[in-house]
Amino acid sequence: MVLDFSKSVGEPMVEIGRLGLVEFCGKYRFGSIDELKEKVTKLFNIYVFKTSGRIGQIFSSNSKFTHNSTGKDLNKRLKQALEFYDDLIKESLNGYCISCGKKDDLCSVSKTIFPLTTGNSNANFTSNFSNKFLMCKACMTSLFFTPINMQKVAGRMGFMISNNEEINKFWSEENIEKFNANISKQVDSLVDSKINIFENFIYSAIEELQEEELFGDITFYLISNVDKGSEINVTHISENQMRFINNVAPKFFKNELPTKQKDEWNYLVFKYSSKDNSGKFRTRKESIDGKAKTIKFQEDVIDNKNYKSTIKYFNPLISNFIQGKSILYYLKKNLCTWRLTTIYLKEIKGMREERLNIIKKVADNLQLLNKNNDKEFIRKVVFPIERTKSQSELRTKLRELMRKLLLISNKPLFTAEEMVLQILPNGESWNETKDILLIALYEKLTFDEEIEEEFKNLTTNEGEDDE
Ligand SMILES: [Zn+2]
Repeated sequence: MVLDFSKSVGEPMVEIGRLGLVEFCGKYRFGSIDELKEKVTKLFNIYVFKTSGRIGQIFSSNSKFTHNSTGKDLNKRLKQALEFYDDLIKESLNGYCISCGKKDDLCSVSKTIFPLTTGNSNANFTSNFSNKFLMCKACMTSLFFTPINMQKVAGRMGFMISNNEEINKFWSEENIEKFNANISKQVDSLVDSKINIFENFIYSAIEELQEEELFGDITFYLISNVDKGSEINVTHISENQMRFINNVAPKFFKNELPTKQKDEWNYLVFKYSSKDNSGKFRTRKESIDGKAKTIKFQEDVIDNKNYKSTIKYFNPLISNFIQGKSILYYLKKNLCTWRLTTIYLKEIKGMREERLNIIKKVADNLQLLNKNNDKEFIRKVVFPIERTKSQSELRTKLRELMRKLLLISNKPLFTAEEMVLQILPNGESWNETKDILLIALYEKLTFDEEIEEEFKNLTTNEGEDDE
């Protein structure tokens, strides 16, 4: 008998387990059941003896690993779990494996025996299926390996699966290495990301992968081992999002604070992590030589070389970016460069170069109305555009400005065709067009304190205070 784990499986929990198994065992194929059982025994040993008494985070209370009857005698617990696995291996039923579709040599399993049984109603997860179902030996065995190829995130378990095999390999290698290290350190063996926000966890993973020059589409999952009322969060990250980060933030800042001039994207990431909800700079209390000390966020990141601490806190920029929501608002509010804006629009929003060029041209043409007085120009031309509240208001405002421009120059602000096809084409968000135009305008202008205050009042959303 040959057991083959070389082919990917469509069910995420089985697939992540298969990848973990391959890495943990160091091979794809097993010539005999005994060969595989040796590895399974090693794993079950870890589950029973090495998980620091927190085995309940892996197995439900009905499983052979946690059942009360064996709580006092762990040797008995291991023996019982292995016997149970043996029984499953001996079964030979016909039907269809619920996960991969194999037709023969199946076993009948109940979902509560597996690790990380979630009660979620997501139909793509084995755990959602009826209590008794058929599975092939490979898929059944894979499921026991799922926890070791995941990381603790926000009190739950997170994992990723990519269409790029190299990424899956990287993820599994890292996890199994840490898992093994945890066992020898006598700490909880499950890998802990130490990140409490799912979006930050994803961002941090992308950052790491792009530094390794690994790109692909990735789906991130967050699950919990709760049968009732549990949720599965699924977030898809496109290769474009990864390439964008690679393009604008090739390396996480290391020795100094990022500045807007040198490292605009990381500057924004840092800025939005550095303050709490009330707008105060973050601090952290630590006990040094028995004395309580307050550590400022900046010191924490730079002096302590604790670069990843920026990723501990909620960051609206990261959150929106990871959820695939527009971040144009943040780019405008922080007076970001046209360069960063266009990279974002082209790579993430798929915006046509031609459209961007025309909008930029409109912004440049409007500058003809600036009589070397930025303040007056901002108040009379730019802020009125900022204040428009609908597509028709924006259109009217632009036409009005076109008329003004024609009085002093022969240059039309835009042609009718440009307006219809590039500036405000049907189906495109007028609001985004407005922000893109404003970003191009603001880049060329100098703000004094008064204008800064007015700008802040104009562009701050209700209830938001990030300054
Ligand atoms: Zn199967």
